[in-house]
Amino acid sequence: MASAPLISIAPPDALFARSPAAGLSEERLRDSHGRAITDLRVSVTDRCNYKCVYCRTGEEGVNFTELPIGQYLRMIRIFVSLGIEKVRITGGEPLLRAGLLDMVAELARMEPAFPGAGKLDIALTTNGHLLEPLAAPLKAAGLDRVTVSMDAVDPDAFARITRVPRSFDRVLAGVRAARDAGLGPVKVNCVLLRGFNDDQIERFAEFSRAEGVIVRFIEWMPLEEPSTAPGSRNWAPETVVPMDEIVSRLNNFRPLVDLAPNAASETARRFTFDDGIGEIGIIAPVSRPFCGHCSRVRLTSDGKLRTCLFSQSDHDLEKKMRQGQSDSEVAAYIRQVVFRKEARHHIGEPGFLKPSRNMVHIGG
Ligand code: SAM
Repeated sequence: MASAPLISIAPPDALFARSPAAGLSEERLRDSHGRAITDLRVSVTDRCNYKCVYCRTGEEGVNFTELPIGQYLRMIRIFVSLGIEKVRITGGEPLLRAGLLDMVAELARMEPAFPGAGKLDIALTTNGHLLEPLAAPLKAAGLDRVTVSMDAVDPDAFARITRVPRSFDRVLAGVRAARDAGLGPVKVNCVLLRGFNDDQIERFAEFSRAEGVIVRFIEWMPLEEPSTAPGSRNWAPETVVPMDEIVSRLNNFRPLVDLAPNAASETARRFTFDDGIGEIGIIAPVSRPFCGHCSRVRLTSDGKLRTCLFSQSDHDLEKKMRQGQSDSEVAAYIRQVVFRKEARHHIGEPGFLKPSRNMVHIGG
């Protein structure tokens, strides 16, 4: 099930012997497995206005500190100087955060440090509840693309998942506003849980075709806040709806046609239908891990660097800044941490340990 372990190419000390000053952009950011790290996900809050049953307890979870937007921007600027080419703003729910438009406008002024990347790609992941009035201003500020999480196309099922009444219409309006504002191609992400929303697969296919959005099904990962609260779900392998099953269901709906990946690090397998209408992506971190191509690191809302969703620890960039370290000192620290990025996750293997934080407190 899991991919073979990757091979280490050099011990960390050897890397630093080659670049003792670890200046801002002398060498692009890589880990010890030879992977170039080009994608940064930044959580700007771990608060969320939804309580999705597979993610949160339904209670108010522990909230980590939020940093001033300027601090995220300083960190991002350093990451960009090291080779980051894509920045995705996430949370918690990022649209709850004041100052987001200014943040996007500042990001739009940044340029990738290494040749060939084009402009910095700026994306946002949101539950869409607050998106409708913000889509056009976000586009005007410089946002390129938006991904909206939506786990059902049936309004009642949707409200059962989010535990927020009448949430579906708000999100649908947000998806349409994003599409109309040119924040496309708009992606709609759906996490499938067996016996809960897996009856929505064919309806999502229809939704993609009717609304002109890319629907992506995501296998559920063990990243939920554990809970005994009514309605909450705790991860179990049999609850995951694997890629093969999704493909087979879609093929019965209408024949699928493979689409080429957009990039080597693409996490989704892409399909259209035999008439070319609609696009489906399937992201299968559980049944087909793609760690060998992982190009991502994450920054939590309280300024911790995480090198894998399943990391057992994080690395305190905010503290380095609070201690007065310069940009090049912080850059050297980032290089050192990223170099030790985990080879892969171990979901489904004996001895698997849940990470030190849940999805909502990392940034999805
Ligand atoms: N609030 C924003 C949103 O809803 O998109 C951003 C944060 S949310 C944690 C990001 C994404 O992670 C959502 O698409 C959500 O469905 C997904 N997610 C949450 N828990 C997950 C899990 N255990 N496995 C897979 N995806 C998960």
